[in-house]
Amino acid sequence: MIETTPSDAPRTEPMLDIRALRKTFGAVEVLKGIDLKVAQQELVFIIGPSGSGKSTFLRCMNRLEEPTDGSIFVDGVDLLHPKTDINAMRRRVGMVFQSFNLYPHMSALGNVTLALRKVLGKSAAEAEAIGMAALERVGLAERARYYPSQLSGGQQQRVAIARAIALEPRVMLFDEPTSALDPELAGSVLAVMRDLKNAGMTMVVVSHEMRFARDDADRVVFMEAGQVVEEGQPARLFGPDAHPRVRAFLTEIT
Ligand code: ADP
Ligand code: MG
Repeated sequence: MIETTPSDAPRTEPMLDIRALRKTFGAVEVLKGIDLKVAQQELVFIIGPSGSGKSTFLRCMNRLEEPTDGSIFVDGVDLLHPKTDINAMRRRVGMVFQSFNLYPHMSALGNVTLALRKVLGKSAAEAEAIGMAALERVGLAERARYYPSQLSGGQQQRVAIARAIALEPRVMLFDEPTSALDPELAGSVLAVMRDLKNAGMTMVVVSHEMRFARDDADRVVFMEAGQVVEEGQPARLFGPDAHPRVRAFLTEIT
């Protein structure tokens, strides 16, 4: 088993603490001052119209995008500080994309162990043990030697999740992880995400899987035009008292 938290001691410091985050592309301000705290073991779900900045926001959280202004603390570490080791932080902030981005010429296990060997310098045997444990967690131990083309989309996405959790992230970011999948394949990915949450992983999820948001999110954040319009518990955001923009959005997509 892979530990997701260093100890059982209760901590009150947020896992993610994002303040006044701004991102501009040229003259276009895509994130207009976003504040978000994510508690240890919390699952925060981000919804909002296409183009509202959800992906850019997630990408800033592991500096795949360079924020223009504001601050991001991950487990107490200043992500934007010039002395912060960004490669170390990227292992701490795992990310799963809509496109699985697996290497086609490597087996599932090869994909999962690559960074363990090349970045963390683990021996082949050690990397294999960690990789197999990660594949076990996503229910794919028996597919370890399969190549991506021999796996379904849902299985490929679970390999991508295994690849991230093998690095023992503090927090996992998911950007529309099931959008490329047929509904029956999406279910297996959502089940793995649910297991991760139940094991104590801190997660930020951008997705249109509203049922998952309703059932499994601790908090839902609605973004529009680069700002947080409303946030709260799922029952509130999906209920009759939600902000009119949220209700309009939910009516549109369902
Ligand atoms: P969402 O994920 O909510 O659909 P995105 O974060 O992908 O939104 O995009 C938000 C806005 O930022 C869009 O208008 C998009 O065109 C713009 N954008 C995203 N990435 C870039 C980029 N690399 N260069 C210029 N504009 C970008
Ligand atoms: Mg997006």
